[in-house]
Amino acid sequence: MDTEILRPAAHADFERAAQLIRRGELVAFPTETVYGLGANGLDAAACARIYEAKGRPSDNPLILHAADLAMAQTLTCGMPAAAAHLLAAFAPGPLTVVLPKAHHIPDIVTGGLATVGVRCPASDIARCLIRAAGVPIAAPSANTSGRPSPTTAAMVEADLAGRIPLILDGGACVWGIESTIADCTAEGRVTILRPGAVTPEMIAAELPGVEVRLDAALTAVDAVPRAPGMKYTHYAPRAPLTVYAGTGCAVAAALREAYQRCIEAGGVPAVIACRETLAALSDLVSSARIYDCGRRSDDAGRASCLYDALRHFDDTEVTSLFAEGMVETGLGLAVMNRMRKASGGRVVWV
Ligand code: AMP
Ligand code: MG
Repeated sequence: MDTEILRPAAHADFERAAQLIRRGELVAFPTETVYGLGANGLDAAACARIYEAKGRPSDNPLILHAADLAMAQTLTCGMPAAAAHLLAAFAPGPLTVVLPKAHHIPDIVTGGLATVGVRCPASDIARCLIRAAGVPIAAPSANTSGRPSPTTAAMVEADLAGRIPLILDGGACVWGIESTIADCTAEGRVTILRPGAVTPEMIAAELPGVEVRLDAALTAVDAVPRAPGMKYTHYAPRAPLTVYAGTGCAVAAALREAYQRCIEAGGVPAVIACRETLAALSDLVSSARIYDCGRRSDDAGRASCLYDALRHFDDTEVTSLFAEGMVETGLGLAVMNRMRKASGGRVVWV
């Protein structure tokens, strides 16, 4: 199958993409978080194609993308009060709410769960596509399962060329990191299943009297796993990744040592870090072996380049990646969650 890449401009472009969706085909499209691999969310056979194209395990549910709150409302059999508040505050935007699912949503969308993840994306291209299709669009990230999520059309193409008919190109995603997922199905409590640009602090501020907590899996001890394995690795670059987090000076010293040790062992190391840290390593590390994530204080910039950084050395001779982590507040919580998975838990606090 040929994969067309299209920068949608005219109404007819959206109509063509929407027709593919209505016919049960897949269309990759940009959102403000990452690129999604979309199918008609009410068509089980179309959703099955998503799992096939990504090589995604069938028990990993998809998020349904709605054009607006009215469409979101049709996807649940009862909108919890907390979810209604959060959607009023943060939709359209990078927040997914987990709700009791409406009966007509196919089981394949939810991995057999009685709940469904729903999001209203803010991206104009995403909204135009959903409106033109006239159905909610089921869309996980448009990467091969286990790989870093795509934040440009070129990254989608690298993973899915030949497997899908169309990629809508909207340039680089604004946030570059997947949506926050907030489970709103329990009375009086909201559980963050995945951190994102809508932070736990922002959610708590909207919901006085409601307990807002992080899912236990997010706060589990994050040291090197006792039995290292690929089972929990997601967003993974081809070369193994180790993350060093802490104060700037200590991280630079740890990266220096790791880089030198790798060379002594005959490896080819590369460093992903903020500009200040790279400046401290400029005597040792060649410019071909660095990825500059921008200034340390620019949390949004560092988050939005994360997946580009993780893919950057994939087609090079680099054998080991060493990255600087972030402080786990605000967007840093979301970035560290992805870095922990991308590194298979190899996060060293220094
Ligand atoms: P992706 O868009 O590729 O990040 O995948 C969607 C994510 O949303 C997956 O990690 C799912 O586990 C999560 N998700 C979707 N629906 C639900 C649900 N009903 N309950 C919990 N998590 C969900
Ligand atoms: Mg994904």
